[in-house]
Amino acid sequence: MKIAVIGAGWAGLSAAIYLQRSGHQPVVFEAARTLGGRARSVQSPPLNATIDNGQHILLGAYTETWALMRELQIPLESRLQRLRLSLQAADGSFRLKAALLPAPLHLLGGILVARGLSVTERVRLITLMQNLRDRGWVVPASATVGDWLRAGRQSDSVVRRFWRPLCLATLNTPIEQACAQLLANVLRDSLGGARGACDIMLPRVRLSELWPTRAAEKLDLRYGQAVRHLNRLSTHVEVEGERFDAALIATNAPSALRLLKHDAPSSAGDAYLTQLAALRYNPIVTVTLELERAWKPPAPMLMLYDYPEKCQFGQWLFDGSVAENPSKKIPGPGPTRTNPRIEGQRSMLTVVISDARSLEQHAQADIVAGILEQMREQIQGFPALPPVRGHATIIEKRATFAATPDLARPENATPWPRVWIAGDYTDTGYPAVLEGAVRSGKRAAELIAAYFS
Ligand SMILES: Cc1cc2nc3c(=O)[nH]c(=O)nc-3n(C[C@H](O)[C@H](O)[C@H](O)COP(=O)(O)OP(=O)(O)OC[C@H]3O[C@@H](n4cnc5c(N)ncnc54)[C@H](O)[C@@H]3O)c2cc1C
Repeated sequence: MKIAVIGAGWAGLSAAIYLQRSGHQPVVFEAARTLGGRARSVQSPPLNATIDNGQHILLGAYTETWALMRELQIPLESRLQRLRLSLQAADGSFRLKAALLPAPLHLLGGILVARGLSVTERVRLITLMQNLRDRGWVVPASATVGDWLRAGRQSDSVVRRFWRPLCLATLNTPIEQACAQLLANVLRDSLGGARGACDIMLPRVRLSELWPTRAAEKLDLRYGQAVRHLNRLSTHVEVEGERFDAALIATNAPSALRLLKHDAPSSAGDAYLTQLAALRYNPIVTVTLELERAWKPPAPMLMLYDYPEKCQFGQWLFDGSVAENPSKKIPGPGPTRTNPRIEGQRSMLTVVISDARSLEQHAQADIVAGILEQMREQIQGFPALPPVRGHATIIEKRATFAATPDLARPENATPWPRVWIAGDYTDTGYPAVLEGAVRSGKRAAELIAAYFS
């Protein structure tokens, strides 16, 4: 069957690969001239380099992502740096590192020797995690992360040092609004899994190079083709006037809504469109800094404590240097744009600010100045930060949907025959993360294959 896949993010590309594997003929339409969607490489004029649109952390628990990379014969070790879970504050006041023990003792051991926790805080943290495990990783319905932490008697200090950064990094939603069950699902699969499931995997290459470029080599991919018309007929669908047996909409939710709302009204259809329209979004801001001299942070990933009143917004600091072939072309058609300098020799840092709504009223220059001040204040006992040669700020306004409780998320199957959807916002049981996008794409491909079998 000839299937139109609309969108070349992680969901659309994963669906296309699985559709192809099951004998179908996917044709991928991508509005942008690069692939990867919200996890993509971009050319940064201020830095004159290829950078990512945002730092992405992957987890050992991203089983479908690793299966897809294996399917594409990509060796994980060459593309990702695997780190034992370690949540470490830049100022040295807090550190929780998974112990080298079999699960679940790795977490218990980590909490017992963690830096920056009182005895009571350790006991309450262990009790909260043990209760969660005993209850099958199910939390009270409609609870926010804030409700759940209060019920678990977590101190303000533990919330500030541990839970808040973890919740923002995972759900991109503040603890008082974030859905506790979605956080519990991620904890179940990472901390509750085998020891390696909570490992942190940081890309060694630019995001598009992780696997999307390899996928694109295998697919019929049409870049720069924004789909505006999807015409559903009883025997087929038409996408921009071209005939297909079915369509998979793997765009973001607002684009999916635009493509679907022209169909004839029905109660099931209206309910489905209402779910798409109800999603709200939170931004993520990523600041990439290029330093004058080589400088490695004390760990590949460090927590920063933010002080918005001082314009110090940084939450996480990453070593952003990746080795990249300078002659490598940015994936996509068009003229070859190459990196004039070898990035492996450039010293880059990235600073991430999740749920960045409050940054809107600040000038970018003030944000960068505040972050530099924050880093100088908080990175303790380490050679001073060299001067900054250049910086780039990327604001992803609709980075992820706001992961609030009781959110009705759409299924992959739509009420309309021959039309499916995929994306991180579908009902994956996960917040808006890469693994959710890959799972959603695979699930949609399975449903399409079953429909035509
Ligand atoms: C800054 C940032 C940091 C993040 N950090 C993490 C992290 O650390 N860990 C993690 O797991 N996840 C993270 N995420 C989330 C992750 O990037 C997303 O969950 C994932 O990329 C979503 O993939 P998707 O395929 O569902 O959607 P998208 O990536 O949005 O893909 C949709 C695609 O459809 C295309 N499109 C839209 N409309 C049309 C149209 N009409 N016609 C044709 N094409 C169209 C778009 O151009 C896009 O390429 C982060 C996201 C951001 C923005």
